[in-house]
Amino acid sequence: MADKIQSIRGMNDILPDESPAWQFIEEKLRHLMQSYDYDEIRFPIVEKTALFKRSIGEVTDIVEKEMYTFEDRNGDSLTLRPEGTAACVRAGIQNGILVNQQQRLWYMGPMFRHERPQKGRYRQFHQIGVEVFGLDGPDIDAELICMTARLWQTLGLSDSVTLQLNSLGTPESRVAYRAVLTDYLQANEALLDKDSLRRLQTNPLRILDSKNPAMQAMIEAAPKLMDHLDDESKVHFSRLCAYLDSLGIAYEINTRLVRGLDYYSKTVFEWVTDKLGAQGTICAGGRYDGLVKQLGGRDTRAVGFAMGLERLISLLEQSKLEQHFKKPHAVMLMMGERAQNAGLALTEQLRNQLENVRIFNVCGGGSFKSQMKRADKSQAEIALILGDDELDNDVVTVKYLRADREADKPQQEQLTMQQVTDLLAELVG
Ligand code: ATP
Ligand code: MG
Repeated sequence: MADKIQSIRGMNDILPDESPAWQFIEEKLRHLMQSYDYDEIRFPIVEKTALFKRSIGEVTDIVEKEMYTFEDRNGDSLTLRPEGTAACVRAGIQNGILVNQQQRLWYMGPMFRHERPQKGRYRQFHQIGVEVFGLDGPDIDAELICMTARLWQTLGLSDSVTLQLNSLGTPESRVAYRAVLTDYLQANEALLDKDSLRRLQTNPLRILDSKNPAMQAMIEAAPKLMDHLDDESKVHFSRLCAYLDSLGIAYEINTRLVRGLDYYSKTVFEWVTDKLGAQGTICAGGRYDGLVKQLGGRDTRAVGFAMGLERLISLLEQSKLEQHFKKPHAVMLMMGERAQNAGLALTEQLRNQLENVRIFNVCGGGSFKSQMKRADKSQAEIALILGDDELDNDVVTVKYLRADREADKPQQEQLTMQQVTDLLAELVG
């Protein structure tokens, strides 16, 4: 036998028994986007490497060690997108849809990062991303948070997640804070691990993000960016908090929340859960007012978030949503040659009449018993059975497959074609 070729580590197949959960969540997300009147944008999965280097920042985890970068046949350096914001901004600038306009955009699809694969952390994973351009107030920041809070509500996850909030200030206030923080860290240099010593020169704010237990007390006592904010950022943040208070959305101010990417300013937030172990961040976002200009566009305010779909689905698996996943309304059993002919025509007719009906045909014939086995497996609500008897009498035998059928109603009955159509119309809803 020939060697089997395996998939790439950390890049998963989504198998037939998993795809109903994906479809369920994707549909919910599309509906959520519609209900806020956001528009979908689609851009390529591969971009020039320089785009990510310039936007995400040279000294970030993503650019330093996680990107899938390669040379194409022309010797150009290309990268599989590790996130969507940079490409979304690139597409917006290039197509002239950001200048003097407001855009509220979303996208959904695979992202690629060369990380150590583990539960909740993959090399190909999926995100929905939302980006808003041309609005600078805290009201739009609040809208994005509302949108995510509504999703948790719809999915019954509100009790599983908490919102963490911080402000990174304007770039100017951050420069001033960086000097204060660097002084403090230098005074505590003996406590810094190797990673942090390196970051002390390149990106000291990221040291606050460290999970090293030995450094926690030192980090806890460090000067806080929140105490060094400029007035504009302070007002922005307190107005955002006031919006959330009046909307009844609870949050925790986490002054250590700095986010991994360079491009954030003012508002940053994360939705976290304690139900997924170490990979607890489901959704992360914030304001990135400087990025459009940094990538060659006109100065344009922007804010957005990205949500990891694998982590979201893991959380859902712990809830009882399975009952909402799509199953066929009906399964068609055809006994004998004549019934096979008539049955195919019958189900075509039903599909013509009922736009959203889902019918599974048991193909390949076989005994009643073996067809019934397949019918049960399909998890359909009803079985439609056609044989010579039914054809002679112009009826269809309907068998109710769900256990929750009321006891005083027949488990099986013969219906005319019109009655079958009406029954299915009711099931389709
Ligand atoms: P983490 O701290 O977990 O590495 P991050 O800050 O790198 O996350 P972002 O770049 O903000 O993550 O991406 C937004 C969301 O995408 C994350 O909150 C997470 O849900 C998801 N995500 C990020 N990286 C991965 C991955 N390798 N596998 C699965 N999901 C991921
Ligand atoms: Mg990461």
